[in-house]
Amino acid sequence: MRARRVRSPVTGAGTTPKPTTLPALRRQAAECRACPLWERATQTVFGEGPADARIMMVGEQPGDREDTSGHPFVGPAGQLLDRALDEAGIDRSLVYVTNAVKHFKWEPRGKRRIHQKPTSREIAACRQWLDAELSVLQPRAIVCLGATAAKALLGPAFRVTAARGVPVASPLAPLVVATVHPSSILREIDDQARHRAREQFVDDLRVVARRMRATR
Ligand code: SF4
Repeated sequence: MRARRVRSPVTGAGTTPKPTTLPALRRQAAECRACPLWERATQTVFGEGPADARIMMVGEQPGDREDTSGHPFVGPAGQLLDRALDEAGIDRSLVYVTNAVKHFKWEPRGKRRIHQKPTSREIAACRQWLDAELSVLQPRAIVCLGATAAKALLGPAFRVTAARGVPVASPLAPLVVATVHPSSILREIDDQARHRAREQFVDDLRVVARRMRATR
């Protein structure tokens, strides 16, 4: 595993970790108090995948299942992502998955915990961890899954609906592509709409697969 030095994130708990590796970053992020989201979440859900991953996928935030398990993309959206990657011809074992925000933001509705969108301040507070992951991984491709990840990495003016599946020039990686978050496909109104949205999603991932093959 590579052990590149990264700039030190500030946990917000009064400590400044030393430059470090992915496992050490994960331990440090577990103590993060840089925004209020840690208070109601079960735990920090840090990114996962091989340290030499060539593709980094960035979602919005952990969901209910991810919050309780401590692992990213293990719920229904993660399962959809796994199948879509397979269909697009991307080896899942080469992919690192993470989120723009590492704690689950939710509000109670009866016995259920309902997802709430993180604010721009919370996204900005959590950017230190995303930057640290990027510094360690130095992926060849970044895929932004949904508007929150795209705006966090590509700026507030970026519109996924207008530029999905199109490589974006960025200093972050040789290839940067944005597409929808897989959870948005699950929320489509009927089977036909879900099928169409899923096909478009796989097409966007195929753009990444083709570029990765071309630059092998
Ligand atoms: S959401 Fe991010 S910045 Fe906020 S406490 Fe959690 S890890 Fe820290």
